[in-house]
Amino acid sequence: MSAPPPAPPARKTSALQGRLAKLGIAREADLLLHLPLRYEDETRLVPIAELKPGAPVQVAGVVEHAEVTFRPRRQLVVRLRDDTGVLTLRYLNFYPSVVKQLETGARIRAFGEVRGGFWGEEMVHPRTQTLAEGSELPAALTPVYPTTAGLAQSALRKLISRALERCDLADHLPDDWRKALRLPGWERSLRHLHQPPPDASLSALDERNHPAWRRIKFDELLAQQISLRRAYAERRQHRAPSLLPSGKLAQGLLAALPFALTGAQRRAVNEIAQDLAQPHPMQRLLQGDVGSGKTIVAALAMLQAAEHGYQAALMAPTEILAEQHYRKLAGWLAPLGLQVAWLSGSQKKREREANRALLASGEALLAVGTHALIEDDVLLTRLGIAVVDEQHRFGVRQRLALREKVDGALPHMLMMSATPIPRTLAMSYMADLDVSVLDELPPGRTPIMTRLVSDARRDEVIARVRDACLEGRQAYWVCPLIEESESLQLQTAQDTFERLTAELPELKVGLVHGRLKPAEKAAVMEAFLRNEVQLLVATTVIEVGVDVPNASLMVIEHAERFGLAQLHQLRGRVGRGAAASSCVLIYAQPLSQNGRERLKAIYETTDGFEIARRDLQLRGPGEFIGARQSGAQLLRYADPDADIDLVEKAQELAARMLAEHPGTAERLLERWFGGRAELLKA
Ligand code: ADP
Ligand code: MG
Repeated sequence: MSAPPPAPPARKTSALQGRLAKLGIAREADLLLHLPLRYEDETRLVPIAELKPGAPVQVAGVVEHAEVTFRPRRQLVVRLRDDTGVLTLRYLNFYPSVVKQLETGARIRAFGEVRGGFWGEEMVHPRTQTLAEGSELPAALTPVYPTTAGLAQSALRKLISRALERCDLADHLPDDWRKALRLPGWERSLRHLHQPPPDASLSALDERNHPAWRRIKFDELLAQQISLRRAYAERRQHRAPSLLPSGKLAQGLLAALPFALTGAQRRAVNEIAQDLAQPHPMQRLLQGDVGSGKTIVAALAMLQAAEHGYQAALMAPTEILAEQHYRKLAGWLAPLGLQVAWLSGSQKKREREANRALLASGEALLAVGTHALIEDDVLLTRLGIAVVDEQHRFGVRQRLALREKVDGALPHMLMMSATPIPRTLAMSYMADLDVSVLDELPPGRTPIMTRLVSDARRDEVIARVRDACLEGRQAYWVCPLIEESESLQLQTAQDTFERLTAELPELKVGLVHGRLKPAEKAAVMEAFLRNEVQLLVATTVIEVGVDVPNASLMVIEHAERFGLAQLHQLRGRVGRGAAASSCVLIYAQPLSQNGRERLKAIYETTDGFEIARRDLQLRGPGEFIGARQSGAQLLRYADPDADIDLVEKAQELAARMLAEHPGTAERLLERWFGGRAELLKA
């Protein structure tokens, strides 16, 4: 049989291209921005006698003995000797070529981490190199790149070196700006990071506070700011109905409310009212902690559209939340003689038709719903404002769909977020939005007491639930989260419900979870709202927005499994009425480090912005940005929190660069995002 023919070169190239694509490298120039994860110091040798477990080091010596043993499993064990001692090298997986390379008598260098093994100190799977006569140590640190299967470090290094010789390394930062920022040149920075000089400090490079790293991060932030700014400017070029505030309806609503707006609410209402009067679309994010009163702010904005005969739509991510918004709005607005249409995916055909007719005839200008609102047959042909609650739960496309409803002009957009976004994150990722912040809770709220209770004391918690409910208050019981399996999650909810029903015969217990039919779900929520159900067993479907002021006790089982933002949201379901509220977090041992941190944070503070800050530290920015940037990439090198000084500078200089050097701004975007800048616009 003849050997298979070698693969044609074209195939080989495309295999390489495929692997590079996995790393986000599409063009040769992208290789330059593929920066090392870390560095290894192969410039020095450590005598075997001085090895300490821990950091990776390099040793050199002669193989004294090498043997493939089979106990406890097949492995290659090598004894390496230098002038000072002997070290064991151990390979649990190895190719025959390794056995050959490490034959007795071979002179080699080995790089790896030393650890204390059963038989003394050893290196497991060190990287080795055979030493030729007179071979020298590398003069500089060795970069280690993020890579993917089938692409060796050495190959990647070669490709990058070549890119450094062939690609455009022009500095896009005007010289005087760069000097004022005290940042090194672009080319110098890239070369320093890819091919560090012999005297480069390993710690500065690894910790990424070296000036070369700061230069890269700055350019990345600048490119981000420029692209967001451009997106902002482009959207402002569209027309939108100019809705001057006349205030008649709004005044009617305010007069009828049982409360006065907080100062923060008044500020937000004014900011929004001014935006709506402009002839171009508002793009505003309303941020406020749970319970800060965003709904009324949204309602007032919607009325401003209605006053001019325009439609206003409020879209929420879940049926429960949408339904609740509907009830609240309808309750506020019916006395003013305004109808609200209600559209949800689960509605009966008749009900849906009736609501569509309300919109079609213009009898109702206001609509509330789930994403059923953006299904193409809905009649939002005169949409003046779209309000999106929990904006991060919707994809870019869904939010755009709401915008596309009107031909000619775009509606104004108000996005609301119940999960506060740390300032540093908002400054970078949300720079294309105007932001209003509700930084004040309505008065009269009693702070929520949070308690951590080990699951060994579950009975005490049950007694507390009984006492609270018998005193006329109500409680939530949130079931353990089982992320891996929805059916297991449902089963757990069902079991919890049955157990609590048996354990608390004097109470009426209800159950709500994501798989209930919408009508059933609505019925349970309704019963809870009317205090016909005292204890509501629930999955996280109640996480956002649910508002039952008489509920003052929240119990969360296996709290250690929940994310910080989730715990904060859940806790925010209580503390909405006058009664003193508490939140009991039942946890099970053993706690992971991260789980412990989360419980500690939620125990220590109820300030949503502080919780968001800690959450950011624990989870990184990806989760916060969510669907907002789906497709577009997160920052790769800069960290808006740690590099806040650079974010501020980038914000300032982005505006200047667009004004003074638009061509350079373009080239900078091209360098960082290639063809992908489009994605940042949504
Ligand atoms: P969130 O910001 O979490 O969406 P909501 O809009 O649901 O908050 O408001 C929480 C509760 O506070 C609701 O019952 C709402 O009617 C009430 N509320 C809103 N604003 C005020 C205020 N200024 N004074 C008193 N209660 C208010
Ligand atoms: Mg809300």
